[in-house]
Amino acid sequence: MSYPEEQALGQAGENVSEMRFINRSQYFPPHGPSEGGIVAYFSMEIAIAPDMPTYSGGLGVLAGDTLRAAADMGLPLAAVTLAHRKGYFRQHLDANGVQTEEPEPWYPENTLIAEEPVVTVSIEDRPVAVRAWRTEIEGVAGHIIPVYLLDTDLEQNDPQDRTLTDYLYGGGADYRLRQEAVLGIAGARMLRALDYDPVVYHMNEGHAALLTLPVLEQELHGAGLHTATEETIQAVRGKCVFTTHTPVPAGHDRFSGEQAYRILGHERASLLERFGCFHDGLLNMTYIALRFSRYVNGVAMQHGKVSRQMFPDYRIDAITNGVHAGTWTAPAVRAVFDKHLPRWRQDNVTLRYAIDIPENEIVEAHAASKQALLDVVKARTGVEMRPEVFTLGFARRAATYKRADLLFTDPERLVRCAEKQGGMQILYAGKAHPADEPGKAKIRRVIELSNELRQSALSIVYLENYEWDLGALLTGGVDLWLNTPRRPYEASGTSGMKAALNGVPSLSILDGWWIEGWIEGVTGWAIDDHDDEPGEANSLYEHLEQTILPLFYRDQPQWRRIMRSTIALNGSFFNTQRMLEQYLINAYFPEQRVVKAAPAPIPEPSLAH
Ligand SMILES: *Cc1c(COP(=O)(O)O)cnc(C)c1O
Repeated sequence: MSYPEEQALGQAGENVSEMRFINRSQYFPPHGPSEGGIVAYFSMEIAIAPDMPTYSGGLGVLAGDTLRAAADMGLPLAAVTLAHRKGYFRQHLDANGVQTEEPEPWYPENTLIAEEPVVTVSIEDRPVAVRAWRTEIEGVAGHIIPVYLLDTDLEQNDPQDRTLTDYLYGGGADYRLRQEAVLGIAGARMLRALDYDPVVYHMNEGHAALLTLPVLEQELHGAGLHTATEETIQAVRGKCVFTTHTPVPAGHDRFSGEQAYRILGHERASLLERFGCFHDGLLNMTYIALRFSRYVNGVAMQHGKVSRQMFPDYRIDAITNGVHAGTWTAPAVRAVFDKHLPRWRQDNVTLRYAIDIPENEIVEAHAASKQALLDVVKARTGVEMRPEVFTLGFARRAATYKRADLLFTDPERLVRCAEKQGGMQILYAGKAHPADEPGKAKIRRVIELSNELRQSALSIVYLENYEWDLGALLTGGVDLWLNTPRRPYEASGTSGMKAALNGVPSLSILDGWWIEGWIEGVTGWAIDDHDDEPGEANSLYEHLEQTILPLFYRDQPQWRRIMRSTIALNGSFFNTQRMLEQYLINAYFPEQRVVKAAPAPIPEPSLAH
């Protein structure tokens, strides 16, 4: 990996110590995998490419965006995940809003590179052979991040084990624990078989926590896990960092003691029990990761606080999530950035200077994004929406805490508002996990109400099968992004960040990232905190009726300023490049944040004569 610009700067005799960041080759010697230290990034789901159904939602998109930023920044990082041959699922919604699911199979052998090593992990006393498919994520300057997708579909495996890497978040708890054994244990072994020697293991959420076991085995040099001491655990901690994403205890993966002993085997389970990873008799993946990591973080300032309350015995920092700017900016907006801020992809902070882009160019680019979105709505549903009408977007996993129906708390008021102000169009999308009946009920309710309320001033459409491409179209093409989670359940949230990059302000509950991103009337609007839903819904309506729609329809100059400041203030910060720089400084290499001594000063030409 090279940083030609920085090297060129150094050669030209600029003061290297003034650079915001030291030359990254100091972090990473530019050697092959076995020589230089790499960061190993583990995630149960990674959104690698739009045509690979290997993710379900925010966690996977964040993982993919992290790798895309790492590729842009030239970091030696390798990622591990599962192949998920059957994908997450394809969502179908009938006229009444009833969701049905279809597998979304894909075939790694058709497009990916087969790696040679096969590693073995014993699960439930059976040896399970695991191979890896490699794909690559390329950065702006050509740097490559390899991603290894683990696959148990091998002939030598017991038939039930061949399907372990098929379904993302499918099956029951047994299936999940086996998958986590493949991800963590086989994944770490696979990296070593591929000749990597990671200096940092990053667990993106607790699913990957079992990677700490092979790292410990390595520290023990062949002595059994039962010989582990506080000291060897300390050595493992020296290599591991953990990002927690879940602000509620019930969201953390837990397994019964019986499951743990049966599936992982006595030696592993008893080690985990001995070192405090069982809570209330349950094996808790979050406690494994907390116990074995030297650095832990939540994914927004507020989520850091919530996590510290949940786990008071641990030091937990916060690094706010971001999105990959190049990925989530619509084509027309990219063209504007390319013209005015030519290095925005290499240096996302440059987006701060969007404040100097002529507003009409942003408005025109957004109009193109909106038209592209409305064309897709027409093609998919037959509904013709109008480009001049205020359009609101709400799309995310249909988990109940996201409260997709808060907007419909008082349907008549919503209709009156649309009629009085000049019209409103609402676009919804989102999948409910197949086992999440309350989530599915939310989708049905939104669709029922859409059918009832639809009239000339208010048009509502629920788009099927929310995924990457639709996410990009929606966040880029609507006029306002709405987010109504129940506090404090939204650890971060990222789709409002995608919207911000496109000049789309948010109206949101003050939770997750919005606490940091919100400047009233400048980057969007906050729904007032209330302990009850009617109070929050009332604030939502008041903002639409009194501020947002009047601005949109009757004060375009101010609306344009808001669009531009949304990009400049939030696009420049809530991106994965800034996020990864924080991981480098605080999580991966805190010790190395020493700026190299400035090069000898270049003699000034003497003026004294
Ligand atoms: C960005 C994205 C998400 C995550 O959205 P949140 O706002 O973090 O809930 C989920 N699904 C898709 C398809 C996305 O593009």
